[in-house]
Amino acid sequence: MGCVTHPGGSPPKLGGMSTDAPRIQQDQAYYGDTYLFETTATVVAAGTDGDGAWAAVSPNIFHPKGGGQPSDEGTVNGIPVTPSRNDDGLVVLSGGTEALEPGTAVGCSIDAELRKRHAALHTAGHVLGHLGEARGWTSTGHSHYPGQARLDFSPEGLEAELATPELREQVRGELQEALDAVLTRGGAVSAATDAAGHRTVTIEGVNSEPCGGTHVARLEDLRDVRVLELKIKRGALKVRYEAEHA
Ligand SMILES: [Zn+2]
Repeated sequence: MGCVTHPGGSPPKLGGMSTDAPRIQQDQAYYGDTYLFETTATVVAAGTDGDGAWAAVSPNIFHPKGGGQPSDEGTVNGIPVTPSRNDDGLVVLSGGTEALEPGTAVGCSIDAELRKRHAALHTAGHVLGHLGEARGWTSTGHSHYPGQARLDFSPEGLEAELATPELREQVRGELQEALDAVLTRGGAVSAATDAAGHRTVTIEGVNSEPCGGTHVARLEDLRDVRVLELKIKRGALKVRYEAEHA
């Protein structure tokens, strides 16, 4: 799978990229532990851009929107913030960080239920994407937003196989059956980041792919994973699905 099409988007580079400033170290704690919902952190950078004040903290538990996965919601010192990734590769927090200066200790918290829901949808997307590709389909896009999660594949060559609602329902059922088999078998989900900052996510018995998102710890943590519908629309085969965290 190419960088454009895998469920997690391109793994981001870590730290600052500027050549005339010291590289800012930010420990992306969400890479290592999906279930770290609260932490004390230190402000490692702060500034102002077109959208207002921002601050970067380390360790950072906030997943920024990317690769089809939505941002976490959370607070710094009890004030709601919005995470995003800046051009230097830092995860920055805006909306409630005006008064923060580098070196300050802060209390960080994310919405645990939302994190778990996003991780469940995203991990299920990995599995379903793999099953589609195992059928010979080519991934072209994805979204893991709650209520509108879907994987897109190229419809080329599938017109006959998916020509009628009955045929699409049959393939949907086959995908569900394959999905159920993988989930019944279960397996660990792990991630490793190399020295260059490239992160690879491995689902035991499924596959490994580059990804910067959040995932459940084991496939057993997923429940109610359902392939909802297949349809060919605007030049893509769209496979809608749902997933919950156990
Ligand atoms: Zn992922």
